[in-house]
Amino acid sequence: DHIEFTRHPKQSDFVVRTENTIHLEVPKGSNGVLVKNLYLSCDPYMYILMKDIKGPDIFSSYSPGSVITGYGVAKVLDSRHSNFKKGDLVCGITGWEEYSIVTKPEDLFKIDHTDIPLSYYTGILGMPGVTAYFGFHEVCAPKKGEYVFVSAAVGAVGQLVGQFAKLMGCYVVGSAGSQEKVELLKNNFGFDAAFNYKEEHDLDAALKRCFPEGIDIYFDNVGGKMLDAVLLNMRNHGRIALCGMITQYNVLERPEGVTNLMNLLYKRVRMEGFATFDYYPFYSKLLESVLPYIREGKIVYVEDVAEGLESGPSAFVGLFSSRNVGKQVVAIAHD
Ligand code: NDP
Repeated sequence: DHIEFTRHPKQSDFVVRTENTIHLEVPKGSNGVLVKNLYLSCDPYMYILMKDIKGPDIFSSYSPGSVITGYGVAKVLDSRHSNFKKGDLVCGITGWEEYSIVTKPEDLFKIDHTDIPLSYYTGILGMPGVTAYFGFHEVCAPKKGEYVFVSAAVGAVGQLVGQFAKLMGCYVVGSAGSQEKVELLKNNFGFDAAFNYKEEHDLDAALKRCFPEGIDIYFDNVGGKMLDAVLLNMRNHGRIALCGMITQYNVLERPEGVTNLMNLLYKRVRMEGFATFDYYPFYSKLLESVLPYIREGKIVYVEDVAEGLESGPSAFVGLFSSRNVGKQVVAIAHD
C-alpha cells in the first residue's frame, strides 16, 4: 500500500515474497539482460519514490506491490544485449530480488576493476561516489586551507566528502548522530573535529566552537535546523552545496525550516542544489581519481553490510534513524 507522507518508512511497508525462478529467461526479441543480484544499495532517495505523491519531475514513484528498483551490483547470467555477456559483473539499476531481468541495460555499467570489493560499486565507486566527488569538487569549488563542514558525515556520501576535502588540504569538521560515529570521523576518516548533533542543545554554539573563524563550505546532507545554524556561521563568499535534506523527507518535520536566509545576502554566499545524474557522463573521471586513492590506502570506505534479501527492509528503514554506520549495503549473494 502507499506510505503516508507524514511519517518515516517502516519495515511493515515492505513484503518479502518467494516465487519460482526456474523459468526465468530474457524474452526473445528484447535486448534485456538476466542478472544474479549480489549487492543492493539502500539510498535515502528511495523513500521519496515510495510516497504516493506527485513528486518533482526528476523522480518517478514506485507502484505499490511491485519489486523495488535501485542501485546494485550483479553478475550477468544471460544477455541479449551486445555490451554484456554471461559472466560479466555489472553495476547500475536492478531489482530488490535474487534474479532480475534488466530491460533497460543502458542503466548498467560493466565493472572492469575487480580487485576492489564489489560492494564498493554501490558506494565509493557508485552513485554516492559520484555525488561526493562532483558535489564537492564542482559545486563547492574548494580551495586549499578552506574551512569545510559536512553533515551526516559518516554516511555513504559524507565520509567521502570529508576525505576529499582533507586530500585538498582543507580544515574539515563533521556532524553525526552518535559518539561511535564521532570517533570514526576523527580516528578513521581523518576529520579535524566532529560532534554529535543529537547532544548539542545549541547548534549555532557548536558550530562557533568548531569554526571560530566561520565556514567557507557547507556540504549539506540534512537541511532543517542544521542548515539554519550554518547560515549564521558562513564566511563571506562561502558556498553551500545542497546535496540532500533528509530532515525534510517527512512532512511533519518541515516546520523546522530555514529562517536565516538573509545571511546569504549579507555574506554573499552561493547556495546551490545539484543532482548526481548530471555527473554520470563523467564517471570515468571518478574511477581515474579514486581507484588510486583506494589502492594506495589514501581513502578508507566504511560500509554497513546487512546479510540476505530479507534484511533489506530493516537496513533501509535504519537510514532514517541514524542506525547505519557507513554506506548501507544489502548482500544477497557473494558470487
Ligand atoms: P547516509 O549513508 O548518510 O544515511 C543517512 C544518514 O542521515 C543516517 O545515517 C543519519 O546519520 C542521517 N539522518 C537521518 N535522519 C536524520 C535527521 N532527521 N537529521 C539529521 N540526520 C539524519 O546517506 P547517503 O550518504 O546515501 O545520503 C546522504 C544525503 O545525500 C541524503 O540526504 C541523500 O538523499 C542525499 N543524496 C543526494 C544526491 C543528489 O543527487 N543530490 C545523491 C545521493 C544522496 P546521523 O548519524 O548523522 O544522524
